[in-house]
Amino acid sequence: GNQSRLDAISHITNRAPLSVSMPESMKDIWASDVFNLASMEEALSKNAFKAIKKTVKTGATLDNATADIVASAMKDWAMAKGAKFFSHIFYPMTNATAEKHDGFIVTNPDGHAINEFTGSLLIKGEPDGSSFPNGSLRMTNAARGYTAWDPTSPAYIMNTDNGSTLMIPSIFMSWTGEALDKKIPLLRSNAAMNTAAHKVLALMGEAEIAPLNSSCGAEQEYFLVDANFANSRPDLLLAGRTLFGAAPAKGQQFDDHYFGAIPARVQVFMQDFENKLYKLGIPAKTHHNEVAPGQFEIAPYYEAANVAADHQQLLMTVMKQTAKEHGFLCLLHEKPFAGLNGSGKHVNWSVGNSTQGNLLDPGNTPHQNLNFLLFCGAVIRGVHKHGPLLRAVIATASNDHRLGANEAPPAILSVYLGDQLEQVFSDIKDGKLDAVSDGGFMDSGLSQILKFKRDPGDRNRTSPFAFTGNRFEFRAVGSSQSVSGPLVAMNTILADSLEWIAAALETELKAGVEQTAAVTNVLKALLNDHGNVIFGGDGYSSDWHKMAVEERGLKNIPTTPDALQAFLAPDVIDLFDKTGVLTPVELASRYEVYAEQYVLTVEVEAKLVAEIATTSIYPAAISYLSTLGQTAAGLSAMGVELDNSVAKTVSAETNAMMAAVTQLQTALGEHDFADAHAHMTFLCTTVLVLMETVRSHADALEMIVSDDLWPLAKYREMLFIK
Ligand code: ADP
Ligand code: MG
Repeated sequence: GNQSRLDAISHITNRAPLSVSMPESMKDIWASDVFNLASMEEALSKNAFKAIKKTVKTGATLDNATADIVASAMKDWAMAKGAKFFSHIFYPMTNATAEKHDGFIVTNPDGHAINEFTGSLLIKGEPDGSSFPNGSLRMTNAARGYTAWDPTSPAYIMNTDNGSTLMIPSIFMSWTGEALDKKIPLLRSNAAMNTAAHKVLALMGEAEIAPLNSSCGAEQEYFLVDANFANSRPDLLLAGRTLFGAAPAKGQQFDDHYFGAIPARVQVFMQDFENKLYKLGIPAKTHHNEVAPGQFEIAPYYEAANVAADHQQLLMTVMKQTAKEHGFLCLLHEKPFAGLNGSGKHVNWSVGNSTQGNLLDPGNTPHQNLNFLLFCGAVIRGVHKHGPLLRAVIATASNDHRLGANEAPPAILSVYLGDQLEQVFSDIKDGKLDAVSDGGFMDSGLSQILKFKRDPGDRNRTSPFAFTGNRFEFRAVGSSQSVSGPLVAMNTILADSLEWIAAALETELKAGVEQTAAVTNVLKALLNDHGNVIFGGDGYSSDWHKMAVEERGLKNIPTTPDALQAFLAPDVIDLFDKTGVLTPVELASRYEVYAEQYVLTVEVEAKLVAEIATTSIYPAAISYLSTLGQTAAGLSAMGVELDNSVAKTVSAETNAMMAAVTQLQTALGEHDFADAHAHMTFLCTTVLVLMETVRSHADALEMIVSDDLWPLAKYREMLFIK
């Protein structure tokens, strides 16, 4: 019955926010738990510091002698901060973060304890890791995977109940050198982008070109639910979303949560959480309420993509942990509550270096604008050529519930540029800007961009991929996802397009065409082939869905089983192979892992649906029927007749629910599939549909069965009681 719900409500009502000490001075806490360049400079000799700094800045390999010195300094620094363990932290192909802990203490043959942490342990750790999904890349009998520090991402201290641990951000590779993780491809994609960008910038006559890097700032949406409710809901605990739950009378229709006052307990949580982020050197910047009740957002300031990706994973870990300490369950699922806004992770992305600056920023001179137009054009070409790949890297069972639900961007990948920039590209395409190439061009055309200002009001919230003044914002990424996959895809398609641009530009210039005209010629050709992907209208509208597919030839891929097929497409295999980001074998293993994740996720949810319907909801309905039956019999004996319509509805819904459960169980027994695609498709078109059928009857019961008897915390309780 509902006693546990009532208990939960009274616990929450009587709970005071944790007391969290107000922020110490930022100077004292900022990155205080990070072994960054500043701490290394303090701890190392001049020469050792010079060597490690070069490695950090350029990714150059670290010699063994320096590795030993750095390892020893890192250990001393960590132990002085109370760390007794160290751990290589790595990012398997799932969206998880994995760690393997070891103690600093080893005993020598005399039985004396000594503290040991050598360069070889730092550079090459050996987690067994054989239970991480790895596609077919590693035979399990060839077992070991290796981890090694990625020196471009600093080590840090993680404090937990079990004590403090030195965490070492690492790559994870197979015995034969294949990438088993999400970090190696990200590093490789940066390198590919850098190489291609160099070619273009050199052709543009840039004298000095510093290494280019991509940057990422991720906006993270999430829900908080009180732990007293969450712990009583097996679906929230095991699947991270509600598999049952009727819509509350009040949802988000008043828009009163967005930018409204943040509840006191949540404010204290945010303060605590952000203090922890600061200590870890994560630049938390804004936080606010989101659209749905109980939904919030945190957006750290942008950083180098590789560091940002590690920080994003760490942020999610710290967020869940801190929420727990404050009596909340933090939900990162893309659609925890049906009928309410889901959660996304907007991945803001740009590329640049110290000599040319941000190449997605229009800049102040016509020359800078030419660079900008080329890089922006490269992105347009990439999104058009590889829309299905961008769709594939955001394809998960959980994100499917959000994409295409008219709240998040649709499953059609288009590019939004804003009115001014769209006009510039359209003028280039129509030959309106190249008529005068003797300086008139600059006045009539590029001056438009000179005036280009970032205008947040100009933002199109319905676009999956929007230019926002000095960066692109990939808005269709799911809230629970690692940002690495999307970043790898964006860097790689950019690398490929910049290679194409470099070749085309070189041909023009060799033919003696003047630079500005050469750029417009290249862009014109590019826009003729790929301009179709530019769309400034309402991405939610059905007109667009029709137009995109029928007139523009864009793909609308609503589900993961179909979206993941992009990883098997020859053009995608070729893209990753020629850019050196993933070998065909590495790419194929990713398809296997993602397909397996989909299957496992849907199967777990389906089993939960059957179990909760059978063991919680059915008994509640039966109790209610039993009460109604006894009451009716008693009344009848007194000559009073009770209308039987409620009992009839309850029994009809209950029977229908249990019939659907039986069908669901039968479907789950199905194991004979031609391949992963067939298996996923069956889950998508049969199992998910049956789960919805079970749910619809259960939700109907929730609206009619006595509140006294209802076993699951209700939407209104989970969303509004904090
Ligand atoms: P909004 O909600 O308007 O999209 P926010 O300020 O919440 O904006 O988040 C924007 C994110 O984009 C932040 O993480 C910010 O640091 C990041 N960002 C800003 N400029 C760039 C850039 N040039 N490259 C990458 N990320 C950027
Ligand atoms: Mg945004």
